[in-house]
Amino acid sequence: MLKIAHNITDVKTGGIALRGVRKRYGGAVAVDGVSLDISPGEFVSLLGPSGSGKTTTLMMIAGFETPDTGQILLDGKDITRLPPHRRELGIIFQNYALFPHMTVADNVAYPLRMRRMPKAEVKSRVDRVLEQVQLGALADRYPHQMSGGQQQRVAIARALVFDPPVLLLDEPLGALDKKLRQHLRAEIKALHKEVGKTMIYVTHDQEEALAMSDRVAVMHEGRIRQASSPRDIYSRPAELFVASFVGEANLIPVKLKGGVAYSPDGARLEATQWDGDDAEAMLCVRPEHVRLKLAGVGAAPGLHGAVVDSTFVGDATVIECETSSGLRLTSKVLNQPGNPVPSVGSSCVLSWAQTDATILTQ
Ligand code: ADP
Ligand code: MG
Repeated sequence: MLKIAHNITDVKTGGIALRGVRKRYGGAVAVDGVSLDISPGEFVSLLGPSGSGKTTTLMMIAGFETPDTGQILLDGKDITRLPPHRRELGIIFQNYALFPHMTVADNVAYPLRMRRMPKAEVKSRVDRVLEQVQLGALADRYPHQMSGGQQQRVAIARALVFDPPVLLLDEPLGALDKKLRQHLRAEIKALHKEVGKTMIYVTHDQEEALAMSDRVAVMHEGRIRQASSPRDIYSRPAELFVASFVGEANLIPVKLKGGVAYSPDGARLEATQWDGDDAEAMLCVRPEHVRLKLAGVGAAPGLHGAVVDSTFVGDATVIECETSSGLRLTSKVLNQPGNPVPSVGSSCVLSWAQTDATILTQ
């Protein structure tokens, strides 16, 4: 018989489960049957283009919107119809919404004063959380005396201060410039490690989602299309939308026959074995996986073509090729010593490893 040990003191809180959650506004479906289990302490991103239902999903978890159907559970308890203040989840929005007439310390203390916490405990909690977001020295400033990044850190401190089991973040870095965004991204990640809370992070920025998350849930038209590790989302996209939304992808129309992929003009293409029926499909291969050899040199097998465009992007060169059958493929070659980049007009052979090409049928 299987025995499972339960150690009560080890049980972490902050598990969220969405079960078939749907929400429509008038005739339009905003969230179309979303199911997702988020473990205590997990960092999950909801990634998708504008209008894909990310914010609506987050607002239903927070309690500001109510699903038409479906359930939301917090640590196994049904909270679908619980008002926001009884859920006790920390929320951080894109616009920081700090009180302009209050100092940083007072802004952060606000949720605790609302809860009528004793003064001494308010002070010690505010001090601690301001240290966590590295704002200890700025406690007496007002929001207008701080940069956007600092204001957003105050918003994070305010969401953390009452020790919620889950933090909900809706595009918190959206209003900041690129350098600052990258910096705060690392800070939020470090903070996640430190506080160990469940974080659900909404973003339309795929780089952000891949860099920060334990798991990424890609949303499109109100549905989760794939929820996996960043690595899997990138290298094993489950469908065409995911492949094209996350990263750059070469998408080659192919015919599948007996488990093998063939290009439109009948050339056999390397791809992971296909177990399904014969069908039309797309082969997805990332530009950095497309190897480029000058024709004649080593005479490697692959698709023959010519370089039609070449763009220097700093660490790499992005090379556009056209194959003899008219396919356009992009190859990304790192700019390294001993790695000469073929010039426009040169004949080349394009190839990739079998394991780097994914077959997508939808
Ligand atoms: P995202 O955050 O991914 O950009 P949203 O969840 O905000 O997407 O919106 C999903 C869809 O629902 C969009 O088509 C949007 O126009 C619609 N929507 C969102 N909120 C409302 C609302 N309060 N009233 C009407 N339609 C809404
Ligand atoms: Mg949104």
